[in-house]
Amino acid sequence: MKAVVLENKGVLEYKEVPMLEPGPGHLRLKVKVSSICGSDIKRYVDGHRMYPLILGHETAGIIDRVGEGVSEDYIGKHAAIIPLVPCFECEQCKRGYYSACHSYSFIGSRQSGGFAEFVDLPEKNVIVIPNDLSFEYAALIEPSTVARHMLSLGNFQKGETAVVLGAGSIGLMLVQWLRILGAKQIVVTDILEDNLQIASKVGAHVTLDPSKVDVEKEIQKLLGDGADLVLEATGVPQVLQQTLSLTRPRGKIVLAGNQPLDKSLPLTFIENMMRREISLIGCFMSYSAPFPGHEWTETVSALLNGSLDMDTIISHRYPLSKAPDIFEKIGAHQLTHQKILLNPEEA
Ligand SMILES: [Zn+2]
Ligand SMILES: [Zn+2]
Repeated sequence: MKAVVLENKGVLEYKEVPMLEPGPGHLRLKVKVSSICGSDIKRYVDGHRMYPLILGHETAGIIDRVGEGVSEDYIGKHAAIIPLVPCFECEQCKRGYYSACHSYSFIGSRQSGGFAEFVDLPEKNVIVIPNDLSFEYAALIEPSTVARHMLSLGNFQKGETAVVLGAGSIGLMLVQWLRILGAKQIVVTDILEDNLQIASKVGAHVTLDPSKVDVEKEIQKLLGDGADLVLEATGVPQVLQQTLSLTRPRGKIVLAGNQPLDKSLPLTFIENMMRREISLIGCFMSYSAPFPGHEWTETVSALLNGSLDMDTIISHRYPLSKAPDIFEKIGAHQLTHQKILLNPEEA
């Protein structure tokens, strides 16, 4: 079968790899669509823990084979990948905190992923979807669940106000979930005009470009002492530092952007956080009990009833074979994009 393999830092190849046969407790998904995640790009640009690796975890397709002990009823069913493979036995798994599992694996990061014609998955790592849900939408279930999980962690309540920092894929999903769950005011910031326009289309009430306006002042005008909930999805240190001034006293900040590890935060940040009794909440992946969690079932429902708009956030479609070129362009900042879809069936 053909697959897109990360051979080394900055080296991605579309090549022939051995065909997979699902082992006991596993099944095989014939891939229809995969979407490129920011984390795939990071693995390519910054390097990764292991090579060679088939990337990709935002993937949907049709189950075409099952291993020993897995019901044949799965064959022919449409499904999307649930990428986290927890042990289900450690202290944190027993609590339902699967992303804190002591010994987890992850499809497309610690084991072969979805940028291929087929992918091998443990039975628990598929979410079966109705046949009338498109594979393109199904491939975007995972990034939606991350946004939904952030709002759960921030205990978002209908009628609250929110600021979304960064209108990349997670930011755009956040805007949609805030709209669906009834936010009173959704303010979005980004330095790319394109991203802000799409944010407006999918539900942002106000968009702000920090390179053109003073975000702090604008938020004060709009929301007085700050938003109930601030969602950090940029991974930019200056933006992280600014979160406190955008949050009302006793408000909450949820962090999902990966920050550069060689930077630090001044302790005045903690001082300000304490004085205003603001909660700072970390977010890692998108899981809750029972596995994989309500984030996943709610996303499928929102896709089926049409409230989650994926069409507006899909910017490009390519054959899978073009992945090495596309990653090279993205790495060189030559391709502005939202979600990019890859199809293994086109030549
Ligand atoms: Zn992802
Ligand atoms: Zn575990």
